[in-house]
Formats: sequence, C-alpha cells, structure tokens
Amino acid sequence: MSREFKHFKTVTLPDGILLAGFDYLGKSVNVLNVESMSEWQEIVQVAEKADAVKGVVLVSLKEGNFCAGADLVQLHDVQQRRAFPELEELVNFAHRIFDVMDRSTKPFVAAVEGVCLGGGLELALACHARIASTHAKTSFGLPEVKLGILPGFGGTQRLPRLIGLPAALEMIATGKTIFPRQALRMGLADAMATSIPSTVRSLEEIQKETLVQVAMAHARGLCSTPVRRRRLRPSQRFLSAPGIRSLVCRYARRQVIKRVRHFYPAPLCAIEAVEKGMRMDVLEGSLRIEKPRLMDLLAGPVAAHLVGLFLAGEEVKRNIAPVPQAVTGIGVLGAGLMGSQIAGQLAEKGYSIVLRDVASNILATAMGRIHQTQAAQVRKRIILPSDLRYRTMRITPTVHIKDVSFASLVIEAVSEKLDVKRAVFAEFESEASPDAIFATNTSSYTLADIAAKAAHPERCVGLHFFNPVAKMQLVEVVRAPFTSERALSQACTLAKRLGKFPLVVRDGPGFLVNRILSRYLAEAVIMVAEGISIRRIDAVAKDFGMAVDSGHPMGPLELLDLIGLPVAMHVLASLTVLGSRIESRDTLLRTFLSDTKPVSFWKSGKENPKALDLVRQYRRTESSAAGAISDNTLHQRLFLPMVDEAVRCLHDNIIEKAWQVDFALTYGIGFPAFRGGLLTWARQSMTPEHTAQALESLSSKYGKRFEPCSGLSSGGW
Ligand code: NAD
Repeated sequence: MSREFKHFKTVTLPDGILLAGFDYLGKSVNVLNVESMSEWQEIVQVAEKADAVKGVVLVSLKEGNFCAGADLVQLHDVQQRRAFPELEELVNFAHRIFDVMDRSTKPFVAAVEGVCLGGGLELALACHARIASTHAKTSFGLPEVKLGILPGFGGTQRLPRLIGLPAALEMIATGKTIFPRQALRMGLADAMATSIPSTVRSLEEIQKETLVQVAMAHARGLCSTPVRRRRLRPSQRFLSAPGIRSLVCRYARRQVIKRVRHFYPAPLCAIEAVEKGMRMDVLEGSLRIEKPRLMDLLAGPVAAHLVGLFLAGEEVKRNIAPVPQAVTGIGVLGAGLMGSQIAGQLAEKGYSIVLRDVASNILATAMGRIHQTQAAQVRKRIILPSDLRYRTMRITPTVHIKDVSFASLVIEAVSEKLDVKRAVFAEFESEASPDAIFATNTSSYTLADIAAKAAHPERCVGLHFFNPVAKMQLVEVVRAPFTSERALSQACTLAKRLGKFPLVVRDGPGFLVNRILSRYLAEAVIMVAEGISIRRIDAVAKDFGMAVDSGHPMGPLELLDLIGLPVAMHVLASLTVLGSRIESRDTLLRTFLSDTKPVSFWKSGKENPKALDLVRQYRRTESSAAGAISDNTLHQRLFLPMVDEAVRCLHDNIIEKAWQVDFALTYGIGFPAFRGGLLTWARQSMTPEHTAQALESLSSKYGKRFEPCSGLSSGGW
C-alpha cells in the first residue's frame, strides 16, 4: 500500500516494512519545520497503529541530502519577529514525535545517504538504527553551536547515550562533521552500505539500492528481536558513568574556553545540557534542560548574527548565474604555496588538473605537499587510501605550457610579478583553446593591469582564494568591465563546486578584502614602529575575537607572518594609488626582509628576538613614539580605519551591499562572526556620527590617514 504526502512518499512492502521517502517539496534539501514534521508524525502514527507494519525505514529521495535540519529561513524569521513561542511549539512537537519513536516496539531505521545535519541527525538519532552510505556527501553532525544555539530536538540527550560522553561532547560543542567510516567506528552508524544512487529518485527505484536493502534487512532483523538500542562499549560506558561525568564535562568546558574563550555561550550551554540531562530520562532532559537553554540562546544577539551570516552565505551561492555546461579540465599555473593548494582542492572534488610550473623540483615539492594533506585525511578515516591514490592521480604535473591546452579554465597562481603574470597570460592566449577562461589569483594587481596587453581580455576573471585554501571559505570572484558574463559565471560555479562562497566584487586595487585588511595590518606595523609591543597589539585584536572562529585567535602581526611579508608589502604598495591614507612603515618592514628569509614578528609563540632587535634599531633613528596609550585607543586605531575603508568600497561600488562586506570579512580574514561582521558591529557599537568623530580625533592626534571619508558620518551603509 502506498501513500503520498506533500513532503513524503510511503509504501508498505509485503514483508511489513514501511518505506518512507523524504522529499521536501520546493527545496533542494530536506528540512524540518511544522509542515514536514506534521507529516512525519502521521507516518509514525500509521506505523504504530497498523498491524501490517512491522518496521519503518526512512530514506531521502533527494540525492546527496538526507536532511539538512531545521528550516533556517523560518528560524531567522522567528528571530526577527521575536516570535519565540512559535518555535517552542515546534520543539515540543518534535520531542513528542521522537518520544513515540523512542518507545515504539516497531523498529525505525534511518538509511542515511548525503548530508545528515542538525535536526536531520536528531531525527536519525530518534530511530533505533542508522545505516550510512558511502556516498561522498554522507556526513553527520550537530552544527548548531556554529549558529549560536544548541541541538534542540533531543540531540544533547540522545547522542551521549549512543556514542558515549566524550565523543558526544566533542561533536556537540564543536559542531564537528563525522564521515561514514568514523561514524561506524564510534557507533553513530550501525552499518555501512556501498552507495550506488539511483538516478530516478522514486520509492520504486530506491528500493533496489544497496543502502535501502541493507536498512530493510536491518529493520527486519530488529523486528524479530525485542527492539534494543545499541549499548555503549565498556570504555564509553566508563567515561559516561556518574562519577567520571563531571570530570569529562569539566575537560570539555576547558577545551571550549581555550578555543573560543567566553565569546560564544552556546558550546558551554550545550555541555551543561548534556551533563544535567544525563541525570534524567531523554524526554525529561529534552524538555527541562535542553529546551530552556535553546530558547535563551535563540533570543540572544550571537545566534541572530550567526544565523544571519549563514543565510548571507546561502544568498551568495544563490546569486550565481547558471552555466550551460560547467568546466571540466582545469589548468593551474604555478605550483607554489597557493597553486599546490588549489590543485589539491580541485582534485579532491574530482577535477582533472594539469599543474604547471617552471621546474620539475618545484613540481615534486608541490606533489609531496598535496600527498601529505590528503594522507592526513586517510589517517583521520575521512577517506580511503584508494581515494588518496585517485585524487593524486588526477593531477598531472608538467613544465610544458602546451599541456594546459586541453583546459577550459586555467587558474594562474604564479609569482606576484606583473611581467610574469602578463607573460603567462600571453602564453595562455597562444596555447589554450579560444574559449578557455583565464582566472587569476593575484592579490595585489588589478585585472586591468594583468590583461592590459591581452588580445582577449574578456576571458580574464579574478579567482582570489585565501590562504589556507582548504580552510578559508571565501573566494573573491573579480569582474573587470571587460570580463565576459561567461567567464564570471564559470568562475563562480567552479568556486561553488569547491565548496566555497564565491562573492563577486569589482576590479580595483586590493579588490575588497585586502583593501580593508591593509588598513588594519598597516596600522599594526605603524604601532610597532612607535614602540608598542608586538604582544600588546596582537592581544588587543585577540581580545576583540579576531580569528577566534578558525580555532586559532590571531592578531594582525601574527597574520602578517602567515601571509608572508613580501606578499603583504606588495599588496600595501599596490594600494598607495588609493591615496595617502594607505601608509605603512615600509622602511621598518624592509629591514625585516634584509635576510634571505623574512624575519617574522613571532617565533615559537614568543615575540621574535630578531624582530625586537630590528625594531629597536629602527627606533634609534625615528623620533615618533606612542607615549602612554590606552588599549581602547589601540583598538580604535586598528578597527575604525577598516570601517572607513569598507564604506569607501561601498561608495566605489567594489561591492553593492553592507551585508556583503560583513560576510566577506568574516569568511575572508576571520573578523569574529559573533559580532555579525564589520559594518554590523560598527553600527551596533556607535552611531555613524560618533565613528566619524572618533576617526577625526585620531586624525588630529596620529595623522591624516585617519580622516574619515565623506560618506561615513551620513550613515546609509
Ligand atoms: P609562490 O611564490 O609560493 O609560488 C609561485 C610559483 O609560481 C612558484 O613556484 C614559481 O616557480 C611559479 N612560477 C613562476 N613563473 C611561472 C610561470 N611562468 N609558469 C608557471 N609557474 C611559474 O607564490 P604564492 O604565495 O603561491 O602566490 C601565488 C599567487 O597567489 C600570487 O599572485 C599571490 O599574490 C596570490 N595569493 C597569495 C596568497 C598567499 O597567502 N601567499 C593568498 C592569496 C593569493
């Protein structure tokens, strides 16, 4: 017997298995909201009542997505209207349904293929067993803390009972993603099945898949035994026992504070919910412990900022123009720091790449680096050794430019020298097919500079990745007036397929992110030149939360070390065309470059004695000194020029909207997400008039570089 709902399709098979296919209507992913949950409740009730139904298998009819969790658009709407009781109702509703599943004598089995996150995983946790498919997209996680909240459909209660306290705390407090082999090992999944997804996503076709076959067999197995959930292994049981519990939770709390200090309330609340909830049954813990904490967090500013940024990311991805045919073969020119990382990322996503550099020893080093990164994933059981082989085999290293002639898109990541970039573009034009696209990863030249001598500049687009490529989610896709729509949409599509956020920005010195970042970095160097300590400058930025989301809080001087002084100086020099406000102490910085290797500000977690010597030498010839200066002034000197530059970028149409600036700086340079982004923070901490006044007062004291732009005080940004 089969039945169709709006978001589910069900069929009861002759052996008594009710197969339910989740297929949220009108969305590319399955989400949980009142509509879909009401239908699921009906299915659960039917299964409970009908004698013919012996067990239930839940599967997704969307390829690569089991369930993405709660509907975040609705959640954001609730936050904005502050209509929290509506949400509380949904939470209560979910708890009631999941409790019925929990107590059912008929087994529920989740056949998980694709993304299974948040509420989606909580739904799977309410099932009696989970079968994970080996599909590349299959992943489990409770990422709620990344949205400033905690799992609200019983996740904090069921997960520790399933996989033990330490592993559950790690997943819940960090929002970490778990892949199928890891899930199987830790007991999150009961079995794994090979993925051969059917192209026709109907209940009839899906029944033939190995995953569904395994899940149905598992459900039948559970029918014939009294339904029992998986028991914890002895070690998991020991670490979850009442006496040990508080120690494990204390350790988890310490880890959170080490990682994100007290900036984010959600992970600590989640740990508390787990610890307290373990003293009662699942339903009571969910309603009395988990729910009130969820509601408090939802009403707070951090969750509003984080959900807003998440939806901004969705908007960035949605804004990409469709391409009739995506590029397949890709060339990467330059196998240095960036080129090798970009090639590795492309290979990971299944692209065939030709990686070209000028010497084979450089290529060998690059291939070694790529191999090492992929091998780390094998060690963490994210991929199989065979995946590593396939990935590295997809990269063909070469010293011959002719070998990239097959590529429909070429990413240029050669040394940051204009003549080299132009020569490479000329080589590309002579060798590549006439419709191939040239995407440059330059950080300091404009597209206009690079394509100045090109025969077909319309093929030139910017694909500005950030370092480290695997971690940084932002890619600036740069369009010049001559860039063709085709080049732009192909570059955006490629960045999206790499799992990045492709933010389209207009061509101009430093594009968007480096232009704003430069004001911050340059001011930090000026402070060093004034004799302010390296440690103090970085501490002010870290106390504000810079880079805390990366798990490694970092101030501007440590960031300069990471970027590399030569690249940073190049960027700063390229920005001087914008006016005298782009000022750094490059006489000081040049002394850092006098050795064969640039001197860094930090060395092994301490201020580098060599850097301190160079600063002392420099200061003997320089009279400027900061004198007594408060942390608040240091803070203003670092962050207010960034606000000024962001407003200038909006006025210069480098970007159109303020939320895009917020998004770009959060995902591009680690501006703390809990503050909602640079301009949101600026607006919420001071009126535009006050920001302009603060800059004017800095200008009268420290120099004209602080003079605010005319549009700043008028607001409207
Ligand atoms: P790198 O010096 O590490 O690598 C550059 C590579 O290009 C070298 O291996 C060099 O041998 C090679 N090369 C030089 N001429 C070549 C040619 N004609 N054909 C092929 N290869 C050639 O530099 P990088 O840090 O990887 O930077 C590369 C590009 O990425 C630059 O444009 C830089 O501005 C940009 N970028 C760098 C960063 C960063 O953090 N380093 C971040 C974003 C963008």
